[in-house]
Amino acid sequence: MSKITGLVRPNIAALESYSTARDEYKGKIGIFLDANESPFDNGYNRYPDPHQIELKELIGGIKGIPGANLFLGNGSDEAIDLVLRVFCTPGRDNVIVLVPSYGMYSVAAAVNDIECRPFMLGEDFSLDTAGLLAVADDNTKLIFLCSPNNPSGNAFPRGQLLDICRRFRGVVVVDEAYVDFSSQGSLAHDAVELENLIVLQTLSKARAMAGLRIGMAVASKEITGLLSGVKYPYNLSLPAMQIAAELLKRDNSEEVSALVRERERMSGMLPSFPFVQKVYSSDANFLLVKVADADRLYSFLLERGIIVRNRSRVPGCSGCLRITIGLRKENDAVLAAFNEYLR
Ligand SMILES: *Cc1c(COP(=O)(O)O)cnc(C)c1O
Repeated sequence: MSKITGLVRPNIAALESYSTARDEYKGKIGIFLDANESPFDNGYNRYPDPHQIELKELIGGIKGIPGANLFLGNGSDEAIDLVLRVFCTPGRDNVIVLVPSYGMYSVAAAVNDIECRPFMLGEDFSLDTAGLLAVADDNTKLIFLCSPNNPSGNAFPRGQLLDICRRFRGVVVVDEAYVDFSSQGSLAHDAVELENLIVLQTLSKARAMAGLRIGMAVASKEITGLLSGVKYPYNLSLPAMQIAAELLKRDNSEEVSALVRERERMSGMLPSFPFVQKVYSSDANFLLVKVADADRLYSFLLERGIIVRNRSRVPGCSGCLRITIGLRKENDAVLAAFNEYLR
């Protein structure tokens, strides 16, 4: 029995997953009378591949990850929910989340009646490994880490994340939604090798496909198998997979570099405004900006049709707005509004 098997929620370990008749027939042509579909071909009358083999091969090829080590979800939000459901027994187990970090971890835990233990980052958003591990007890199944972290923007050192994997007896989930904007490397390849590491990535951010809802988990085959056994069989729609495959053929790394350049330009300009108290350094496609009166600036921008995220009530982020990096002219509009706010 692997170390992971012992961590899985008992009813999930015993689960007999839904299987489709098409699992038994691999051919592409045939007379398909097994799934109560309509025979009238409009391009979408058949159920999509529940195993998403083609898209996994394509994404795996781009990332250098075997398809079997990929789980695809309806956004990485689906993977977050499934990881909780696979490992945690409601009302008994607990997970650790960073504060501040992405809100979905604690929401998904609450929906599943799983205790969420917050661990505060330092004032500079650094992570104290010993303090983090001290929050864990025998029922702590998961630690959610987000790197680069949303909303602070900083990435944690790779060596530190791997050290946490080595020292924690549960499963470490590293959410890399913004990794393509970061100079720190991804842990995706480590997740293929390490038993207790799950890396989440998404097509929603750098890959510019938020509307398609496709996210992924990279993990051992054992873990991707568990996640696949719990998901809805047809969790990705056919058009979403087709469009993603089409868009993935295009290399968009130039767009990503342009956003990184814009981020650096904005983080250079913003500190010159007297009401800007701090611009945190970012490895992502947004900047966390501490200002004198966050609510007032937020409303001022909103009145001008510029919508940013007010994070000023999040612990550790008082006075902070999170501003996504847009097109150059959109960022210029933010700078113009900041100038107007001065007057
Ligand atoms: C945006 C974001 C995601 C992406 O979620 P999807 O469901 O894949 O769109 C995941 N994690 C973090 C930290 C994010 O900020």
